[in-house]
Amino acid sequence: PYDVLIIGGGPAGAAAAVYAARKGIRTGVAAERFGGQVNDTLGIENYISVSATDGPRFAAALEGHVKDYEVDIHNLQRAEKLTPAAEPGGLVEVRLASGATLKGKTVILSTGARWRNVGVPGEAEYRNKGVAYCPHCDGPLFKGRPVAVIGGGNSGVEAAIDLAGIVKHVTLLEFAAELRADAVLVNKLRSLPNVSVVTNAQTTEFTGTKGKLDGLNYTDRVSGEARRVDVDGCFVQIGLVPNTEWLRGSVELSRHGEIIVDAKGATSLPGVFAAGDVTTVPFKQIVIAAGDGAKAALGAFDYLVRH
Ligand code: FAD
Repeated sequence: PYDVLIIGGGPAGAAAAVYAARKGIRTGVAAERFGGQVNDTLGIENYISVSATDGPRFAAALEGHVKDYEVDIHNLQRAEKLTPAAEPGGLVEVRLASGATLKGKTVILSTGARWRNVGVPGEAEYRNKGVAYCPHCDGPLFKGRPVAVIGGGNSGVEAAIDLAGIVKHVTLLEFAAELRADAVLVNKLRSLPNVSVVTNAQTTEFTGTKGKLDGLNYTDRVSGEARRVDVDGCFVQIGLVPNTEWLRGSVELSRHGEIIVDAKGATSLPGVFAAGDVTTVPFKQIVIAAGDGAKAALGAFDYLVRH
């Protein structure tokens, strides 16, 4: 068995692996796709000390750093079931889709999250070519240009407020008749001169020219009329879904499906830790996930020392 078995090979899992291996303990990582969400990222300009890089290069650097140490990497392996230790200090088991079972004295869950898609034509085609999901990451790319935000919940309204300070104009589209964000955010949004809000808007298509987004079409759900906004960028803010479907019933989750962790990354199960976007940690970013992975590895090491 491993001393530390890490499930997920994004920034959180990679940082956990480096920190665990540097303690000289048996460390393994199983990941469906090493690198995680970073693989789908075009430019990364906010990982401190790295002025600018791109997703595939960053993902390769994560893997390279982990391979500097004696870590078993099980890439392209999906975890399907977690069985808690029979008693504290016992072995935690993780069954993989391949049928194999990995065991660890401690386990770190770092399976990340995925952005919910609108699911209309053009979304996949113009992803990273105008269709974006992370205002902290990609907002500055649209400086002085018109953008749209889809989603009128807290994250959509926060994104619109954030973007309004950078871009020329923000059109916020909400499917329902009213914005669902907290009143304080909605009031702030309404006070901004370069934001317009469209409710009852059902996005039907993202369109582009020369391989770049040029706008989106939507239906006014009251009149049934087809409408359009011309924008260079569109931020989709309709939810971030944690990859915890396989953990339901084993580890305690928040009502949003995130793994509940304490200050040391410990979950509700003895010996099971979690880190990064899959947890209740606020603000989902690479630098935060990496720090969180380091913290969970040190939490796991602390647990091993005591059991
Ligand atoms: P992830 O990166 O999601 O990694 C999860 C890992 O778990 C992957 O290896 C995955 O394959 C694996 N996994 C999932 N389920 C299973 C399973 N059942 N079994 C085994 N393995 C599993 N952040 C920034 O700071 N700057 C940016 O510029 C930036 N741009 C972004 C652009 C895009 C398009 C996206 C989608 C995100 C961006 N982010 C950015 C956010 C950032 O990528 C995430 O916050 C970060 O990757 C989270 O790291 P993580 O390790 O927690 O999870």
